[in-house]
Amino acid sequence: MSDEVVHVAMFPSAGMGHLTPFLRLASLFLNNNCKVTLITPLPTVSLAESQLLDHFHSSFPQVNFIPFHLQPSSPDSVVDPFFHRVQTLRDSTNLLPPLISSLSPPITVFISDIFLLSPLISITQQLSLPNYTLFTSSASMFSFFSHFPTLAQSISDASAEISEIPVPGIAFSPLPYSSIPPILFKPTIFRNLMMEDSPNLTKLQGVFLNTFKALESHSLQALNNGEVVKGMPPVYAVGPFVPLEFEKESQKETSSESPPLTKWLDEQPIGSVVYVCFGSRTALGRDQMREIGDGLMRSGYNFLWVVKDKIVDKEDKEVGLDEVLGVELVERMKKKGLVVKEWVDQSEILSHKSIGGFVSHCGWNSIMEAALNGVPILAWPQHGDQRINAGLVEISGWGIWNKNWGWGGERVVKGEEIGDAIKEMMKNELFKVKAIELKDGGLRAISIGGDCEVTIQKLIRKWKNNV
Ligand code: UDP
Ligand code: UDP
Repeated sequence: MSDEVVHVAMFPSAGMGHLTPFLRLASLFLNNNCKVTLITPLPTVSLAESQLLDHFHSSFPQVNFIPFHLQPSSPDSVVDPFFHRVQTLRDSTNLLPPLISSLSPPITVFISDIFLLSPLISITQQLSLPNYTLFTSSASMFSFFSHFPTLAQSISDASAEISEIPVPGIAFSPLPYSSIPPILFKPTIFRNLMMEDSPNLTKLQGVFLNTFKALESHSLQALNNGEVVKGMPPVYAVGPFVPLEFEKESQKETSSESPPLTKWLDEQPIGSVVYVCFGSRTALGRDQMREIGDGLMRSGYNFLWVVKDKIVDKEDKEVGLDEVLGVELVERMKKKGLVVKEWVDQSEILSHKSIGGFVSHCGWNSIMEAALNGVPILAWPQHGDQRINAGLVEISGWGIWNKNWGWGGERVVKGEEIGDAIKEMMKNELFKVKAIELKDGGLRAISIGGDCEVTIQKLIRKWKNNV
């Protein structure tokens, strides 16, 4: 075996939902003595991303950071800023070859974000570089993504009578038609991206997923047996990704720590608190948020609720809670819970013994953080992959999902419905048992000698031997 250092270059896409899992994956390579180069698109869309990067930088000074300065472009006001960034990144990859070729020691493998697949594969093929991707959602969603060009025809032909559609690799197939991301019914950048990129998956050397066998064995087997797409490269389950120390540091900086969350959580009985958060980039309508406040009060449980009024965090600083929720509700809620409108340390919150349930939009990182901590879920998917992830939560028996709540913004779900659903989640003993079983499965996967370590070390050996 060669003694040469394995040099992994990584290129994440926009948003915390993509950057966080990339950095968590990077730390697995760093812990196994690889050299890591991180190509960092700048400026970042959100403040949370730039703070996380700063802390990653100071925690791992050995990492080679390559700033990737993007061409200024005028964002289309109709398009979500994160979405716009994905397009800009795809349009800018022609700037990469000189950056990559100049690196020393030469790059052994390139790991790029799933959203950059086609533009990057043409570059890595020219440079004869092995190209892997990190798909930042579930294996179930990856099956959907892989199968999409085949599905697309039936989607566009679909009539009102079609209520479900078979998708190989999804444990709960046939997939309800209503679970297909609505964005894919329109000629959006995201639909074009999936149509263009899915057929190129077979050109990759492998796919990393933040998941584990105890949760998604059906999908993982189907993907690796070629049942989803013939010629699919190996799909490696290396999750659940573990939050790292540097993430805590960046969260301390973002949060004003008022009110002190940990102290408040410490004072609550075990398993008594409902935690509500819709991720890093989902702002709900104010009507809906007021109903959530009402629902939380009706549930009778104590709660910790992270409010988000704007998609991009920088803009969220401009308005206060009173304006978003109304003074009366804010006052009323003080008796039962904590409501914050700032970045919180979600992983730490989910690991706190007082947390008994999680009202989640089912962004995949949130779902994996809940799995790692054995927390039951009330799934409230809003857009994109989230209904597919919610379907997995439901079939795993670890939470509930009220499908008649619709996609985000489709209708205003009333406080009464929300309160009832929270009670159902918090009282269900079976969810708790299943959540703990999944937690054990997750911990096994990341233990010494577990699937994650074995996979990463096997790959490093393979790369050293240049095979
Ligand atoms: N997150 C956090 N604090 C917040 C909001 C979000 O730590 O106040 C983290 C959360 O723990 C997760 C990520 O941001 O790691 C959100 O990713 P996810 O895939 O759940 O959803 P997205 O934001 O991409 O919709
Ligand atoms: N996206 C968007 N609006 C949507 C759905 C998706 O802008 O309604 C874009 C956005 O860039 C996002 C990506 O498509 O990062 C995938 O969205 P999804 O919700 O599936 O995953 P996320 O990145 O939020 O974890």
